[in-house]
Amino acid sequence: MTDNDSDTVASFADLQLRQELLDALAGLGYEEPTPIQRAAIPPLLEGRDLVGQAATGTGKTAAFALPILQRITGHGEGVKPKALVLAPTRELAVQVSEAMHRYGHELGTRVLPIYGGQPIGRQLKALERGVDVVIATPGRALDHISRGTLSLGELTMVVLDEADEMLDMGFAEDIEAIFQHIPEERQTMLFSATMPPRISGMVDHYLTDPARIELGRAASAKDEPSTVSQSAYVVPRGHKPAALGRMLDAESPAAAIVFCRTREEVDQLTETLNGRGYRAEPLHGGMNQQQRDRVVERLRSATADLVVATDVAARGLDIEQLTHVVNYNVPSAPEAYVHRIGRVGRAGREGTAITLAEPREHRMLKTIERVTGMKIAVRKLPTIADVKAQRLEQTRAALWESLQDSDGSDGLDRFRAVVEPLAEEFDVMEVALAAVKLAHEADGTITDEEEIPEVTSWPPADGRRGRKDGPGGREPRRGRAVGRGMTRLFVGVGRTAGVRPQDLVGAIAGESRLRGRDIGAIDIADRFSLVDVPEGAADDVIAALKGTTIKGRKATIRRERFQSR
Ligand code: AMP
Repeated sequence: MTDNDSDTVASFADLQLRQELLDALAGLGYEEPTPIQRAAIPPLLEGRDLVGQAATGTGKTAAFALPILQRITGHGEGVKPKALVLAPTRELAVQVSEAMHRYGHELGTRVLPIYGGQPIGRQLKALERGVDVVIATPGRALDHISRGTLSLGELTMVVLDEADEMLDMGFAEDIEAIFQHIPEERQTMLFSATMPPRISGMVDHYLTDPARIELGRAASAKDEPSTVSQSAYVVPRGHKPAALGRMLDAESPAAAIVFCRTREEVDQLTETLNGRGYRAEPLHGGMNQQQRDRVVERLRSATADLVVATDVAARGLDIEQLTHVVNYNVPSAPEAYVHRIGRVGRAGREGTAITLAEPREHRMLKTIERVTGMKIAVRKLPTIADVKAQRLEQTRAALWESLQDSDGSDGLDRFRAVVEPLAEEFDVMEVALAAVKLAHEADGTITDEEEIPEVTSWPPADGRRGRKDGPGGREPRRGRAVGRGMTRLFVGVGRTAGVRPQDLVGAIAGESRLRGRDIGAIDIADRFSLVDVPEGAADDVIAALKGTTIKGRKATIRRERFQSR
């Protein structure tokens, strides 16, 4: 993949996408393809098979969705699906469906997600009416195939998304069974964040002479300044605006640039930040040169504190005053990360780079570290108390400085007329306290009181431990300690019902928002099983599994009563 800091960067139009798709992308505020899209779309449009090593956050979904939508003929016409995407979890299946739907809206594409836990009646009706693209978890897809309600005979395109994750969850056999029903003559795509030998085996088995894409070989941090301190904070999506505000309060940057993915995100975030009392200006590719110059000028003259920008708009920007680069999302490629942080720390000056990552983007963060050779420290978000303490320290430091150079006519003497009469009425300490309060609050009071949950399952708490035990494993040691931040759940089915670890992982990941790798130790006894899950997800998992079946049985699920730590 090539460097993307030039005018020769291919646009979506250069990639020969049809107008309906270009319109959809423009409507979503996508300014240019990400590196994986630039590399994957041309071979896919030619009909080639493709292997892509790419994690969430790279834009991989659009990389396969756009060519699929372009190559489907007769959108909205037939009954049987033309394309199938297999995904490891309900969460991902829904995300991919939403993306397909957004991109394919103008083409009239009918998209159907199929996963366990969703009422089957709705799926049946939609399948009967006819669909163009099905996005399914392997278990539920196989269910429908064996009921005869999903027919794969007209498929021309198949995607294995997050293939490593699917193997980890024990879906290898299900996938094999599904492929028995797919025509030999087809285009196959496989995406995986990692490429262990088992994935190479899958590639050889299902793909023919595939194009191969790997992210980020070109990026290197060798020439980049080492004076930039780099850190990342893992924050659930819904709390990102509050987390950003918290960071800004804690850091009080002189001038910062906040990077977003799309124009829409830039506009929304600017509005949110202004609503929270920051002075933010938007900068994106939809603005003309004059408007952009004005924004940059405001930052230079300190009329604005923050610029919220897309990569395209910020290209070539050189603002000496910049102290902070904030990535509101993990950048789509290591190159983009290197370019962004290159905006600060120029000419040996110190700079700070901060990245907000959603839990599911942690692999991309790791990829960036690996490819660039830079160290990005994952830190805990400062608490409200931390920010308050820091603000008080800033006020104290400012007062100390003022006391240091208080000689001369411009010093403190002229305020005697204020302090002396007050000191007759009040204690001097009280007067000082009131004055400090005024000075402190003049800098803006902190209104941020939002609780931002700490993401405890990240990095995963030794997620794979215990799963190797497999069927017929040992009896659970009920006294075994529960990992930090984890809760043990009791599930009322066990070995006699034929339950294997992958069944539990599949059921939990398929029904709840939890991902396979977030699940901790699993122990299977004859009549029950014990599964460790992140504390914060326990209620969600219990609610999601209520009323569903595991190995054809309805199972009790609750918190295990005896949890030793
Ligand atoms: P993915 O890696 O497929 O999960 O995509 C990550 C995020 O990037 C999603 O929110 C997409 O909507 C967004 N995205 C994908 N492609 C682009 C693009 N070319 N420009 C801006 N945002 C994008």
